[in-house]
Amino acid sequence: MSAALDENAPTEQKKAGVKQLTSLIGGVVSGVVDYRDQKEEMEKQRARNANVEPTDDKPSCECGLTFTRIPQNVDRIACPECGREYRVQ
Ligand SMILES: [Zn+2]
Repeated sequence: MSAALDENAPTEQKKAGVKQLTSLIGGVVSGVVDYRDQKEEMEKQRARNANVEPTDDKPSCECGLTFTRIPQNVDRIACPECGREYRVQ
């Protein structure tokens, strides 16, 4: 790989070095893609096997949206889904 950086290396050798580097990067990228596919597959698998229960520790809007986060120092929030406003207590 050092051939790619060596100014005195013959051109062919430089090309080979760059090609090697490129295929190395390509290998890393496709490895990441494989990992993502695998992760997605595992998540789908889990969804098929899992049971979910609704949680009731967070307030929800009449439209069904759950407010998962409420900013500090606000006394009212608007539902991003339907626009209904709520006073925060
Ligand atoms: Zn709503």
